Amino acid sequence: MSPTPTKNLFGLSLAEIEALVAGLGEPSFRAAQIYSWLYAKRVSSIGAMTNLKAEFRAALSLQCDVRRIDVADRQVSEDGTIKWLFRCDDGATIESVFIPETRRRTICISTQAGCPVKCAFCLTGISGYKRNLKAWEILSQVAHVMDAAPTTSSRDERPWNVVVMGMGEPLLNYEHTMAALRILMDPHGFAITPKKLTLSTVGILPALEKLKLEPVRPNLAISLHAPTSKLRAELMPIENKYALKDVIAAADSYPSPRGGRVTYEYVLLKDVNDRDEHAHALSRLLRGRNGKVNLIPLNPAGPIPFEAPRKAQVARFEGILLDAGIPVSVRKPRGQDVLAACGQLHLKTSRNAS
Ligand code: SAH
Ligand code: SF4
Repeated sequence: MSPTPTKNLFGLSLAEIEALVAGLGEPSFRAAQIYSWLYAKRVSSIGAMTNLKAEFRAALSLQCDVRRIDVADRQVSEDGTIKWLFRCDDGATIESVFIPETRRRTICISTQAGCPVKCAFCLTGISGYKRNLKAWEILSQVAHVMDAAPTTSSRDERPWNVVVMGMGEPLLNYEHTMAALRILMDPHGFAITPKKLTLSTVGILPALEKLKLEPVRPNLAISLHAPTSKLRAELMPIENKYALKDVIAAADSYPSPRGGRVTYEYVLLKDVNDRDEHAHALSRLLRGRNGKVNLIPLNPAGPIPFEAPRKAQVARFEGILLDAGIPVSVRKPRGQDVLAACGQLHLKTSRNAS
């Protein structure tokens, strides 16, 4: 019996594949071919890599295979949104969401199983933390959703968007998240343009500084959720470590793709952070900065100790920001019939946002 291959090719960088190929005595262009099969063509076996010689495929198969995480469940919403549940090898479960729109298709991915940051209004935070995901587990989500996504025609040309807004805090899992993002943004990999990839973070400052130095960076979304340090600390314990004013200062100098704006996410919680005074304070905080605000009415769920804002108050809040000249959009709930329990995965509709 042949030994079971242990190394998973899926998730490896080009440099890692080059080292492997060199070890097998093959020229380095073979690595580029394998890389393209894995991420541009997304085949699921070494056998399908038909421009590699049969002997090389056989040698490779003795050491390696191509594995993705398993799909555990899939729920389709009335509005076409699909929520995916994946089960990792150790039993950890994570979620991704496919959100179809008229002119684009969005995939929301997770970077950790659970989340250690524990924001008071977030079901993932409330549910606890298990571990960081590996690059291949992060990429698996995108590959699965892309391969299974319903298309509008045989030549569906709606561009893909990826938002790192699922479970977990990506900047607490910097290495694996960036390894996955580099392959996603690589024109020879998944070929998602950086402008169409958004990473959302509470602002883990040392990691944010590293991100700024990456040669290729995604859009940045900062989870703000309060206009003052005092209120933010009540909602997000991380404020005691990385304070709002320092996070905003770091975001001010973030080199966004093609000079775009940083998004400030603001989950609206009834009577807690959604009053006129909060909107005025937020306007003062962000006036003159290169940012835009994304208002997210709370998606309530059983264990979350807050209520969704009133519709009229969401509109007032938005109006106050607009009057102050701050670009703002309100996220429209999507797939609520299947996503309610997830508590965080929504779709953004733009209004006056660049
Ligand atoms: N950890 C990162 C990314 C994942 S959370 C972050 O916090 O930025 C992605 C977004 O979903 C965050 O802005 C988060 O505040 C928001 N969110 C979390 N729980 C929510 C809920 N119950 N309703 C609406 N948005 C929620
Ligand atoms: Fe973690 Fe983001 Fe949820 Fe906060 S909102 S607990 S950082 S996933």
